[in-house]
Amino acid sequence: MTIQPLDLANLDRQALETALEERGHKRFHARQVFSWLYKRGVTDVSAMTDLSRELRAALAQEFTITTPTVAARETSTDGTEKFLLRLADGRQLESVFIPDTPSMTFCISTQVGCAMACAFCLTGKMGLVRNLTAGEIAGQVRVLAGALDMRDQKFNIVLMGMGEPLHNYDETMRALRMLNDEHGFAMSPRRVTLSTVGLLPALEKLAREPVMPNLAISLHAPTDLLRGELVPLNKKYGVAEIIAACKRFPMTKRSRITFEYVLLAGVNDSLDDARKLAKVLAGVKSKVNLIPLNAAPGIPFERPSDEAIDRFARVLADRGLIVSVRKSRGRDIRAACGQLLVEGQQKSPGQRLAVTLG
Ligand code: SAH
Repeated sequence: MTIQPLDLANLDRQALETALEERGHKRFHARQVFSWLYKRGVTDVSAMTDLSRELRAALAQEFTITTPTVAARETSTDGTEKFLLRLADGRQLESVFIPDTPSMTFCISTQVGCAMACAFCLTGKMGLVRNLTAGEIAGQVRVLAGALDMRDQKFNIVLMGMGEPLHNYDETMRALRMLNDEHGFAMSPRRVTLSTVGLLPALEKLAREPVMPNLAISLHAPTDLLRGELVPLNKKYGVAEIIAACKRFPMTKRSRITFEYVLLAGVNDSLDDARKLAKVLAGVKSKVNLIPLNAAPGIPFERPSDEAIDRFARVLADRGLIVSVRKSRGRDIRAACGQLLVEGQQKSPGQRLAVTLG
């Protein structure tokens, strides 16, 4: 009987241990393999030289290691770098490196495209092409760490690239376990932030995870009426429900939930909106991150003036909220929030169907 080679890059360490055992090898070699793959970026088992020659030969037969390839790389005037990565099936996605001092951040994707269709987001215009596997999510981190020569450096990860992480829950959580593994990158979950529009059932599930990232909620509006227009999912899970779930979310002493709020001129940036937002967030351990819209062709909104942004922020701060305004990075290379878009992708079967159905 021939067994299909297994993609080692898509296994968490426990799964790799099991796979090794099933193939007649010792479980503990998984640690060595993890360390080669994540810490040293070695993707060829024959180069994993602390494994015996026989074992390496066997592993080369039994496993493959799939890694996204860099199809294009662009650097912004502010140092932000956008990577266009190609996956094994030819699909493409974008990951972004944001070199903020002191912390370096990788912004990575969890899906090709996105099903959430937020009114101001370019990725949302693509629709969902497909979910990424855990191997592809963690693979972005391997590729960026290698390409940027940062394997030995500390960096943060934000799941704020393409896709809705809670809409690809299992693979996202499995990727976080792989990145958290002490024999791999050993990423502390405190260095990882998961950003979501608030898929309620998945959010409740997240609250019970042993490895828990920081949480960011893309709120964008204080009322259901307005939010429903900007974030279609709000029609299913409304503001009050999301806030209630946030209040129940287990928090360590120091942590706060970030609320992202894209500011759209004349839409959600009035002082009344700010006052309502402050009310909604009363009693939540929160911080608000205002994101002035990154405008782009095809996005039917405008960025408010700096004064309008300041006034909005001041209302929140006066009511005791912690507020920051997100510096927009990489706008000149369309690497900024909501600007990740891979053009010319084949349509998914669902999209083709939608087209057929008119
Ligand atoms: N789906 C998740 C992860 C994407 S995070 C989520 O929505 O949270 C990307 C962040 O950038 C979100 O807060 C999103 O609302 C915001 N964003 C999307 N389009 C934007 C745009 N054109 N300008 C500024 N921010 C945008």
